[in-house]
This record gives sequence, structure tokens and C-alpha cells, in this order.
Amino acid sequence: MSGAPDEFALIAELFAPLSASYPGALGLTDDAALMDVPPGRQLVLTMDSMVAGVHFFADDPPDLIARKLIRVNLSDLSAKGAQPFAIMLSAAFPHATQADWLRRFAHGLAEDCRAFTVALIGGDTVSTPGPLTLTLTAFGHVGPGQALLRSGAVAGDQIWLSGTLGDAALGLIARQGGLPHLSMPHRDHLIARYLLPEPRVAIGPGLIGVAHAGMDVSDGLIQDVGHMARQSGLAAEIRVDLLPLSAPARAALAADNSRLATILGGGDDYELLFTAPPSQADVVHRLAARAGIALTVIGGMGAGQGVRVVDRDGNAVAVAHEGWRHFTDTGEEPWSG
Ligand code: ADP
Ligand code: MG
Repeated sequence: MSGAPDEFALIAELFAPLSASYPGALGLTDDAALMDVPPGRQLVLTMDSMVAGVHFFADDPPDLIARKLIRVNLSDLSAKGAQPFAIMLSAAFPHATQADWLRRFAHGLAEDCRAFTVALIGGDTVSTPGPLTLTLTAFGHVGPGQALLRSGAVAGDQIWLSGTLGDAALGLIARQGGLPHLSMPHRDHLIARYLLPEPRVAIGPGLIGVAHAGMDVSDGLIQDVGHMARQSGLAAEIRVDLLPLSAPARAALAADNSRLATILGGGDDYELLFTAPPSQADVVHRLAARAGIALTVIGGMGAGQGVRVVDRDGNAVAVAHEGWRHFTDTGEEPWSG
């Protein structure tokens, strides 16, 4: 890495401090980390990769790239109701990566390790002639057998969504110069939601014993609800009039009705999607109030299959774009998953 500290200095100076709270990381000075399964708990593991030019822009602020990488993984753990505690990072930095860039990247990692109380317990560092490629594994724990699964939904369940829908997909469009009619504060809000998702770590563990099924929305609501419906052997109905939208998203929709497809099909929301019986609605509302995060009923599960999008009168609403698929949407990175 020209202009950059070598791999060993990078690990010792920038990454090792992030391991300090986890003795089993051995200060990132050994070949591997040691992990005890927390007593009476089950491990929950997830891994997500981000590639420059596919998941972010190469000139995005390095601290935000690092923080998004952590957050998309913590979102998966929250969706299972798991409590996160550790991460591992595999980083392939382009040859030309500069020391200052690496420092800012490490500062972003440090900030979110602190914010979410996770330790960086190991990883791998290489340089590459290709684009910046980052892979993060996150470790969490739940009570044995208690993790929320996509397959757990029951007919009659209400479908809940955290936060607001579609901001990140609209933020990406705004970032690329679209949505010119939006006010500056609205554009900034949407772009920030694209750059830095908020994993719902304050909600996930509280859903154990309350929700029947859980997942996070990362590839578009319709497609992701479809995964849950299929895995649960049920049909899902989504009411468009109930969707929680931010003020900027409402403004985008008011100016152009076809943005509904972006909101329902766009990716990068990292909101929690879960189902629970109506008898748990009060418990869910109390959880939302405690966490200071909106939780909204957006539809329900019933017998059958597939996803139906309806208006308040139950009439079907046609949606053009069903969700993000790497293999068919990009054409340029056919094997990124
Ligand atoms: P090895 O050659 O045995 O794989 P390395 O020199 O790659 O060892 O790594 C030394 C230590 O630094 C290990 O504890 C490893 O987990 C850690 N490490 C390397 N790269 C990273 C990274 N990107 N993030 C966190 N820890 C890392
Ligand atoms: Mg080794």
C-alpha cells in the first residue's frame, strides 16, 4: 500500500485498540481469537460484504463506509433478536489507499464499536488491484432456540415495520442528482439515511417472546416480505396507506406518484420487519415508546402465498419494481451476493 502504513502497523495502531474490551481477541497479536459462548446463550452469526461501486461510492467518507459496514451487520443480528458483542473484519484495500484514508476508516470503526458496544476481535487485511472490498462478520447471542426466524409467522399475525420506509432508496436517487424539487433539508435527511443506517438494536432483543417472525428490510419491502411469507408458508398483505413515511419521503411521493415503487421496492432501509399476534400489540407499542423508535402495523399474514399490496379499501395496488437483486439488476457484478 503506497503512502499507507504497512499491514502490521495498521493492525497494531488502528485496529488493536478496538479489541481491548474483549480478552479473547488477544490484542490482535495472535493467529486467531478465542470465544466462549456466553453461558446459557446461543451464538447468532452474520456476514455482509460491501464493494466500492456496488454498495457505496469509492469517494464516500471512509468513516461512514466503516460505520455502514458495522450497522448493516448489526441490523441482521437485531432482526434475530440477538444482542451483538463482537465483529471480525476482512478488508481488501486498493493499492493506492492512503494513510489518512485508513485512519479515518479506523476512526469510523472505533466510533461505532463504542456506540454499539462491540469489540473488533480479528480479521484479515490484504491489498488488492480491484475495488475496495470489505467483509464483516458479526457475533451476537440469544436465549437458546429463541431467535426470531423468517419462518415463524402465523396466520392472523400483524406485520410490523420499524422507523420509516424508503428513505435510503430515495436518498440514493437524491445523491445522484434526482428529486430536484425537494428542499435542501429533505434531500440531506434522505442522503443521510442512505449513508448511515440505524440498526434497531434497541428493538430486536425486546421482541423475543413477543414476535413470531423477524427479519430486516435490506432489499426492498415487497421482496423481503415475500421471503418471510414464503418461509412461513403464508400470504402477506401490505396496506400502502399504513406505510410509515418520513416527511421528505411524503414530499417526494406528493411530487411524483411513481416514487411509490421506489419506496416499496428500493433497498438499504435496514428497518426491522416482524410479525406478532394482535394480542401483543400493546407490548410492541410499549417497546417502541421505551426505545424511542416508531413501530407501525403495515399489514397482516394469512393463509395462501405471495404478497398482495392493497389500499385501505382492499383494492390491489400495482407495484412496478419488486426489489433489489444483484444477479439481475446490475449486470456488472454478477457474482456479488
Ligand atoms: P495471520 O497471518 O496469522 O492470518 P495476520 O497477520 O493476518 O495473521 O493477523 C494478525 C492479527 O491481526 C490476527 O489476530 C488477526 O485477526 C488480526 N487482524 C488482521 N486484519 C484485521 C482486520 N482487518 N481487522 C481486525 N483484525 C485484524
Ligand atoms: Mg497465522
